[in-house]
Amino acid sequence: MINITLPDGSVKQFESGASPMDVAKSISEGLARNVISADFNGTTIETSTALTTDGALVLYTWNDKEGKKAFWHSTSHVMAQVLEELYPGLKLTLGPAIDNGFYYDIDFADAKIVEADFKKIEDRILEVSREKHEFTMRSVSKAAALELYKDNEFKTELITNLEDGTITFCDHATFTDLCRGGHIPNTGIIKAVKIMSLAGAYWRGNEKNKQLTRVYGISFPKQKDLTEYLELLEEAKRRDHRKLGKELELFAFSQKVGQGLPLWLPKGAALRDRLEQFLKKAQKKAGYEQVVTPHIGQKELYVTSGHYAKYGADSFQPITTPAEGEEFLLKPMNCPHHCEIYNTKPWSYKDLPKRYAEFGTVYRYEQSGELHGLTRVRGFTQDDAHIFCTPDQLDQEFKNVIDLVLYVFGSLGFENFTAQISLRDQENREKYIGSDENWEKAENAIINAAKDKGLQTVVAYGEAAFYGPKLDFMVKDALGRQWQLGTIQVDYNLPERFELTYKGSDNELHTPVMIHRAPFGSMERFIAILIEHTGGNFPLWLMPEQAIILCLSEKYEIYAKKVLNLLENHEIRALIDNRNESIGRKIRDAEMQKTPFMLIVGEEEEKNNTISIRRHGQEGKGNVTVTIEEFAAIVNDEISKTLKVFNVE
Ligand SMILES: [Zn+2]
Ligand SMILES: [Zn+2]
Repeated sequence: MINITLPDGSVKQFESGASPMDVAKSISEGLARNVISADFNGTTIETSTALTTDGALVLYTWNDKEGKKAFWHSTSHVMAQVLEELYPGLKLTLGPAIDNGFYYDIDFADAKIVEADFKKIEDRILEVSREKHEFTMRSVSKAAALELYKDNEFKTELITNLEDGTITFCDHATFTDLCRGGHIPNTGIIKAVKIMSLAGAYWRGNEKNKQLTRVYGISFPKQKDLTEYLELLEEAKRRDHRKLGKELELFAFSQKVGQGLPLWLPKGAALRDRLEQFLKKAQKKAGYEQVVTPHIGQKELYVTSGHYAKYGADSFQPITTPAEGEEFLLKPMNCPHHCEIYNTKPWSYKDLPKRYAEFGTVYRYEQSGELHGLTRVRGFTQDDAHIFCTPDQLDQEFKNVIDLVLYVFGSLGFENFTAQISLRDQENREKYIGSDENWEKAENAIINAAKDKGLQTVVAYGEAAFYGPKLDFMVKDALGRQWQLGTIQVDYNLPERFELTYKGSDNELHTPVMIHRAPFGSMERFIAILIEHTGGNFPLWLMPEQAIILCLSEKYEIYAKKVLNLLENHEIRALIDNRNESIGRKIRDAEMQKTPFMLIVGEEEEKNNTISIRRHGQEGKGNVTVTIEEFAAIVNDEISKTLKVFNVE
């Protein structure tokens, strides 16, 4: 008998040779129907693999990431089989699952695959799948494996690098592939498939090697899932921040200025400024002090902080000056500067915590292939702050930072998030600096603070930075995609490197603890995510223009100006569209700009001192006629629903 430990900690006994599927059946028929992949002692196995030792077993279904991975990787086998049939003589290389689907890198030799072939490939994959072929793994000697692939230099290279005795093949139907394993029970559950696209890819990612064709695909257990996925992709395209950023005139890039260096246009700059003011206001209440530091610093500063070792060689190179030996770096982080601000004065424990905040712009040299709109750039502004406190204050400071992060998320409509508590690797504690006592204090501070604030948390061992544990906020956007936004990190390293001290109640000098935190992360990335989350329909308090006044004809321009003035008195941001265009055209353009309120003015409105309101995206709902006072009340009421006042407990 063998003892199988399940994820809930329970231990069940089985005959040696029982498979994960047998284990699933012993739990419930329903589970057995849904299990598509398994993990035994940390290694992916087949659901049919015979278990012969004690160990920990995890069963996965389509709802798990690992289940999807097995599903998609298995589909790549079926696709490879079909492609081999349709393009005889092709050479297969590697076909892994990815975050959304799978791909296979293939040398098509003289044949050429084109988009018009996709439908035929999809149909044949489904035809093969319906035959319910099982995936079976078998061990093959190195010699036999090399013999089978003697005409395929790619697989030969892969096999050459493997140890004899560890080489396995996977068979299904008439198809065989070199594979480590991790498949679904049979092809029958593949019910929908889509070949997504083709791309060029060098063998092993090296441009000196042969260029292969990468065939991307995705598959699902239900046709409905595929339809939904494709709709989501369309919606993501419509919401792409690069597209909306252009249409809404928020930001731009210029080849002359340089790749990855965003230019904020007036509307974008105003939006960004509004976000900054919003956070500054809350931070002031929370006891932060605003500081300003330069964009460059002496190279030595970053050698001391350790950032030079981390970013130096792969980043922007030092700036030299006419003075011999003098070198500056564009700052990759604000922290060293803030440490030096702390160091300008001796501190007593009674003075702490000190909380220095700065919207600090930093520069990191990302590879040009990695650049992406505002989410990956070479210059960006962090909503950075560093808190210097005593170890005893850590608990409270952490809770305060969580309050601030939750306030930020709430005001911007991010309701769906989890907090990842990143702790030390429990086995391997040597790689972390700082005493066990301090680590325990910090880890407990984070765990308690998260619990105290009722956060939905996941614990990730081994994910802490080498200098301290952290709390990362993972936010789900309106399309269900997950982003890492705010982060809070505890740091014992920098205070030591910069020899920061405070005088304790014992009159001795002690090293303070440092908290790095950024609720937005960076302004660029945050705004990109906010654009995609809201589709450009920002919360009303943040909208570049909250209202646009549309004149029915130029006769009403004077009245429109009067309305604009009154709106300004109510601090409502508005514009007049006095172009010589039809009202229909003006409405369409305002809809494009996603302006929340269109205020139509004509003869009736002028006579009665009113405006007719039409809301963005509510075509056909009919306009409501109100006075300016009533409109101001509507706007303020809506704003106060999202933008609450930040209160410190
Ligand atoms: Zn495989
Ligand atoms: Zn920092």
